[in-house]
Amino acid sequence: MFDMIIIGAGTAGLTAAIYGLRAGLSVVVLEEFIYGGQIANTPDVENYPGIEKISGADFGITLYEQAKKYGALIKFEGVKNIKLTGQVKEVSTNKTTYQGKTVIIANGAKRRKLGCKGEEEFSGRGVSYCATCDGAFYKGKEVVIVGGGNTAVEDALFLANNCQKVHVVHRRDSFRASQVLVDSLKARENIIIHYDSVVEEISGTKSVERAIIKNLKDNTATELTISGVFVAVGLEPDNSIYQSEILLDKNGYIQAGENCKTNVEGVYAAGDTRTKTLRQLVTAAADGAVAAFEAGNYINQMQIQA
Ligand code: NAP
Repeated sequence: MFDMIIIGAGTAGLTAAIYGLRAGLSVVVLEEFIYGGQIANTPDVENYPGIEKISGADFGITLYEQAKKYGALIKFEGVKNIKLTGQVKEVSTNKTTYQGKTVIIANGAKRRKLGCKGEEEFSGRGVSYCATCDGAFYKGKEVVIVGGGNTAVEDALFLANNCQKVHVVHRRDSFRASQVLVDSLKARENIIIHYDSVVEEISGTKSVERAIIKNLKDNTATELTISGVFVAVGLEPDNSIYQSEILLDKNGYIQAGENCKTNVEGVYAAGDTRTKTLRQLVTAAADGAVAAFEAGNYINQMQIQA
């Protein structure tokens, strides 16, 4: 039995692993896809204290290697089932069942879909949810990016380095993203901002060739001849597997406060997966540390009681 089962090898999960291992606890980290989480898809990180600038991919690799240095056991297995309410927690993957004294859920959140006509059909054929992964395919081309948050603006700036023209389509007339990023966006000559607008339809033959955008204020439609549509309209939780035992909020995030405790003793939620106001790298790392600390305290209390 492990002291700590951590679900997710993103910033919150790997930070929890580092803190748990440094406290002398036995830890297994379960990751369905690739380590690093959301940050691995971010072009540049410039707001993590103490690091002036690093690519998201390099940040993820460094964190992974740091956790490995402390002896983290990281299994690339997707979680399929959970039994968390007893003293011995069970987490089953596609390969096996792990038992733990505590569980830290740090499974992050997934990219939200746009829901417009053509999005599903052209997904992977010009519709992308990751500019850093796919941006290089659009060198010299014209693309659309949808969204008004930090991800959309950072991705637009990243794409503008390589693409001939980048159309930012945002449904309101002001951005949610940090002002410093918005200022950079407005200063770029090959970025065109379409305020109060949404993508109505994506079309093409083999791959994306056109997007119809609609202005919500005057209801006019414009057809853009483009090669790609990048969707950056936020995140949504992926917690359906936990809802039978763990309380979720109305948006599907795990109900847990700043101490990361869920409604089930010995089970913690860290990072983007929990109810919180600020989803950032620094808050994900902080959650990982807090959750591991609380899990360690819980194990100590159980040992005193035994
Ligand atoms: P976000 O901050 O939630 O922004 C999502 C954007 O998409 C918003 O502008 C929203 O419009 C728009 N949107 C949502 N649903 C839409 C729809 N159906 N159609 C059209 N537009 C839609 O998401 P995010 O940018 O992915 O960021 C997620 C979290 O990570 C945030 O907390 C963000 O601050 C953080 N993050 C931070 C950094 C950084 O600090 N450098 C970088 C990346 C991400 P409205 O504005 O009208 O709601």
